[in-house]
Formats: sequence, structure tokens, C-alpha cells
Amino acid sequence: MRTAPPPIPRIAWAGLSLAGGIVVSLAGLFAGLPGAFAALALAAAPIVILWRRSARRWRARRAALNAPFPEDWRRLLRGWSDHYLRLPDDICVRFEDDLRIFLVEKQITGVGVEVTDELRLLVAASAVTLSLGWPEYEWEQLHEILLYPDEFDRDYEFGSDELAGEAHPWGTIILSVPALRESFQVSDDAYHVGFHEFAHLLDLEQTHFDGIPAGFDETQARRWVAIREREMPRMQRGESLLDEYGAHDPVEFLAVAVEGFFEPARALRRADPALYELLAAYFQQDPAAWDDARGLTFDRPARPRPPRPGGRGGRRRPRLRSTI
Ligand SMILES: [Zn+2]
Repeated sequence: MRTAPPPIPRIAWAGLSLAGGIVVSLAGLFAGLPGAFAALALAAAPIVILWRRSARRWRARRAALNAPFPEDWRRLLRGWSDHYLRLPDDICVRFEDDLRIFLVEKQITGVGVEVTDELRLLVAASAVTLSLGWPEYEWEQLHEILLYPDEFDRDYEFGSDELAGEAHPWGTIILSVPALRESFQVSDDAYHVGFHEFAHLLDLEQTHFDGIPAGFDETQARRWVAIREREMPRMQRGESLLDEYGAHDPVEFLAVAVEGFFEPARALRRADPALYELLAAYFQQDPAAWDDARGLTFDRPARPRPPRPGGRGGRRRPRLRSTI
């Protein structure tokens, strides 16, 4: 599918077809055959526009995928992304394809930040890590990623360590560049602002977050809620592998659980097999098995820990997602 044209959303087709049919029928009823033809031409216009947009996306994708994957990008990914390192070869090729499609189609804007190839790769790797197992997934709900030079507060003033990232229901994600870098540098601490904020968008139903991954059927949703109700008190008591930050809000629980699933994957599988299995089935990925296959020693971090930024005192957390 990754080389096929991106589909026009089914709901757009259905809406346009219905509206067009009604308009043409009414025109035929009241203005006869010429009126029906005129209405047909008017109704076809948005379909042509959608088709042209889809064709343009397809050409851009094809151009991106036909070029060899840049070797310096591969080097950067090997240096930054632990998930990239753990992937079996065939899935790694898919990761690289998805990464290129993401970068062709998604807008990444720096706010007082120069958007380098390295930063673009870190953003794309955050999203693609989550969606890698879903061949048809387009991140349609995502409109723009804003990169900030530092943490920020609720008034979007820099210099506060209140927020490291935000996900807005209208499809904008904000990421602090230092927090994003730190997230990739330390790959086993269940903290990743990129995974966290993109995970919020997976939870998006229309214009609000509900704390249940979109696409779960009723049985999966029931299992999710049962795990959450069992785990949140443990998180509050500091007994869980997952961060206490996710303990008070179902929406944050989901984002924090996704961080735990992709970072200390084997530790989560050992500590909470039910949660691990549910997320593995959801994401169609098995990072713990891939870590087994590459022979990681359990007690050794996947990569050395960098020094913490001076004077900040502990981890900086993505504290909140905005709502309408
Ligand atoms: Zn959050």
C-alpha cells in the first residue's frame, strides 16, 4: 500500500456523492434537463479537486520512495532511534518508507528553531514508531508539528519547565526540542515526549480525547479499562513501571502506557503482560521480542545515559495536553 496512491477519505466521497445526488435530483426536478446538467457540473467540481490533490500526493510519495534512502539519514537514525535499531530487516525497510512519506506530507515548523534534517527525522521517527504496524495509516488528524526551543508554560512563554509538549485536538503537536532530544538519548526510562504527544492523537475522537485508543473494539476497550483501573492506583503509589504522571487521568494513562511499551518494552512485558499484549496487538508490533532477538542484557540500558541538564532537578515531563 505504501507505494499506492493515498486514498481520498471515504467519508469525503460519501458526503460528496450524497450532496451531489441531492443537488442534481432537485435541479432536474425544478429546472429540467439543462438544470440537471449544470448541477452535475457543479457537483463534480469538488470531486475533481479532491482527485487532483490525491494525485499530487501520490506523485510526491512516488518521487520520495523512488530515491534511495539517504545514507546520512540512516546514520542519524542509528545514532538516535533505539526502535530503529531493534527492527528486523524487512520491517526496517517499512520504517524508512513510512518516514519518507511522513516527511513529504507533514508540515514541521520551527518557532525560533532551525528545522534541521536531524530534527525532522526525530519528529518523523516519533510518529512512525507508533504507526509502523498499520500499513494504511496516514496520520490524517495531524496538521502541523511546531518545534519550540525550550519548555514552555500555559501562556506559551519559554523558560518554564511546565510543559515539554502538547497535542491539540485540531491536529497540532508542539514539541520542545531539548525534551525531544533527551527522549531519544535515553531509551529505557519510559519517557518520550514524541511518543507521548503522538499517542494523544491516536486517542482523538472527533474533537476530544477519551483515553481509549481509537479502533479498539468493545472487548479490547473493556480490557483496557480494567487494566487502567488496576494500574492507576499502583502508579500513584509508585509501584508501577509506568510514570505516576499517567495515574490521575485516563487520557494521560494512555500516552504514558505507550511510552512504556516502546521504551523499556521487555520490562513492561515482564511487569504487566496483559498490558503489553494488548498494546502489542494494537500496534501490531513486538518490541520486546525484537529486543530478545538482538540479545540485550536485561539490566543494561540500551544506550548510555547522557548527563541531565544542569539545575533542572530531574526529568522534565510532558505535563498536559490542551483541550478545546
Ligand atoms: Zn499528555
